[in-house]
Amino acid sequence: MQFGDLWPSIRISLLTEQKYGALVNNFAHKETVLNNLGALKAKDFVSEAQNVISLLQTQNNLDTSEKMTVDEASLNLVGEKNNAEQTQATNLLSSLSNSKLTCFTFSRGDISRFPQSRSDCFGLLEYYLMDVASLLPVLALDVQHGHSVLDLCAAPGGKTLALLQTENCQHLAANDLSTSRSSRLHRVLHSYVPRDQRTEQKVQVTSWDGRLWGDMEASTYDRVLVDVPCTTDRHSLLEEENNIFHRIRTKQRQMLPLRQAELLVAGLRAVRPGGEVVYSTCSLSQLQNECVVERAVELAASDYGVHVKTQDLSCFREVFKNTFNFFQDCRVGELVIPHLTANFGPMFFCKLLRIK
Ligand code: SAM
Repeated sequence: MQFGDLWPSIRISLLTEQKYGALVNNFAHKETVLNNLGALKAKDFVSEAQNVISLLQTQNNLDTSEKMTVDEASLNLVGEKNNAEQTQATNLLSSLSNSKLTCFTFSRGDISRFPQSRSDCFGLLEYYLMDVASLLPVLALDVQHGHSVLDLCAAPGGKTLALLQTENCQHLAANDLSTSRSSRLHRVLHSYVPRDQRTEQKVQVTSWDGRLWGDMEASTYDRVLVDVPCTTDRHSLLEEENNIFHRIRTKQRQMLPLRQAELLVAGLRAVRPGGEVVYSTCSLSQLQNECVVERAVELAASDYGVHVKTQDLSCFREVFKNTFNFFQDCRVGELVIPHLTANFGPMFFCKLLRIK
């Protein structure tokens, strides 16, 4: 009902093998990694997005015979927006242009697979295979140099690793309630990050209930990622074991939106005024996506006096359209929907700015 005519295409894509990309480990011997991945005829989708931004600059140059700044180019991407929205998009695209993330994917329709990652001469794995739609929440978080960052539900650690790859985090707190999943996070850090980059001062792994974070460290972080537990739609469709749609887990499933909203409220309380939070799920469900964001915004204001504003991310649809398929009708946030030619996602992400 939610997707109407789009559903048959989404359904068949969910039932078909998911596409992976390779997030390059910037801490490994990068030149070798880039050569190896380049030889596979895969392309870095982040730099392709950066090309889209500069192409726009060039096009505008021809029109106006003047050098167009990234700021002005972004205005072309955001279309009819008010001043505040234009400034947001401008800032976001400008930092996207400088992103250090490198992530290879095969082009649309190419279903080749990447070989397993190998260790480089320093013993670090060369790349991390992931559904690269997972990088969009990290890119949307827009971590700037020197930021302190909280990753509230971090395990097994794909997004934590991507946050570290930005090389902008002064301090990263990576938390996950599950101790067994946290040990996977530890393993990822050991395999990809050199010892001197994962000292206690730089990366701290904890296993608290994230819902308590608003009381534990209020108004502290510059950026908070809230990548909540959800129905993991693609996984749930194909895996029988411990399936969240199983009858014995009905209660737990029904409680998910409440739990997600509590986690998001905790994240909104943990970020400093002026700081930003990204909420994300790998579900298609409006109840776990837009509805949770809207509810958490109300709760944060009424119960804690924390006021936030959702941010416009529609420029992502334009910049990343060669790689991902986006749903066009989210009330807030953006949703990557699976498609046979670009079988990533689902991935919903929404950015919120804490005003006070
Ligand atoms: N961000 C991770 C990544 O990119 O690899 C994936 C996170 S997964 C979608 C959601 C995680 O939330 C699970 O690992 C789960 O253990 C954790 N979780 C569930 N309830 C939690 C809570 N109350 N506090 C913190 N983490 C929680």
